[in-house]
Amino acid sequence: MTKERMYKYLFGPIPSRRLGMSLGVDLVPKKVCSIDCVYCEVGRTTQLSVQPEDYIAADMIKEELNHYLQHNQAPDYVTITASGEPTLNANLEEIIAFVKQNEANIPVCVITNGTLLHDKKVREALNKADLILPSLDAATEPVFRKINRPHKEINFEAYIQGMIDFSAEFKGEIWLEVFILPNYNDSKEELLALKEIILKINPDIVQLNTLDRPGTVANLCGATQEELQAVMDLWQLDNVRIIAKAKQSTQTQFRSDTETAIKETISRRPCTVEDLITMLGLCEEEIDRCLGNLASLKGFEKVEQERGVFYQIREQ
Ligand code: SF4
Repeated sequence: MTKERMYKYLFGPIPSRRLGMSLGVDLVPKKVCSIDCVYCEVGRTTQLSVQPEDYIAADMIKEELNHYLQHNQAPDYVTITASGEPTLNANLEEIIAFVKQNEANIPVCVITNGTLLHDKKVREALNKADLILPSLDAATEPVFRKINRPHKEINFEAYIQGMIDFSAEFKGEIWLEVFILPNYNDSKEELLALKEIILKINPDIVQLNTLDRPGTVANLCGATQEELQAVMDLWQLDNVRIIAKAKQSTQTQFRSDTETAIKETISRRPCTVEDLITMLGLCEEEIDRCLGNLASLKGFEKVEQERGVFYQIREQ
């Protein structure tokens, strides 16, 4: 039986484009990250850091995970992510180990920007997971600075070498995400240099992504399907996939506490009604009713963008 509860560090499960029904675990507060991507859907990085810290105590996350897993259907993945960069939480290894010890059948995925993979301790922690989704958006330092706006201590060469070293030692799968942003990293020269680095990292899959929600810089536009296809044609690599938009959920409602689930979701990133329908498997009327109830909350906002009206709750 589902027990209604608003979690502070868990969200979903949501039908992820890549992972099926994925229970998210948020390991750092909004918005601690080692970089400040122009396309970030979480918002601008307010604490740019490369120093892992005890941002959220492992016990608090373990307590929520225990509660969720005891009262809900098992998700397809436990996905460790963050409103920022999860490898900045010094308790990462302990949290992955906790899931593996208690729910050996649920694979653990970590979504990371990969900039701390040069650090042996971070690599040791990630070695306990089943699947790692690192990012690579640039093949040259000027493009890295323009699109990812890194912390000043991040060395581009060390970041790339960290990815290559991790890939060589990791026993699980690596799905490398490359975010294509027109006018930033889509020149032929940059794309060909990206291909060279991808070959060195040698991931299981390369996933091409592009802008889908508002970024942190005005007037960014996503690549079209044709432009993404052109990247695939240029690279001629067998393991490249364009990440399709999440399909309409065919299953019934995954959580009964709909309003709480919507609140958790739009507190993390802006969503359209269509996104919420897809994520929660509910009808439009139900989503509208809940959004109406949430509209009086502090920080609730409606933002019009090209893809539609996005709802979000901003931290005050
Ligand atoms: S790495 Fe992720 S969280 Fe950090 S700024 Fe980039 S997109 Fe946002």
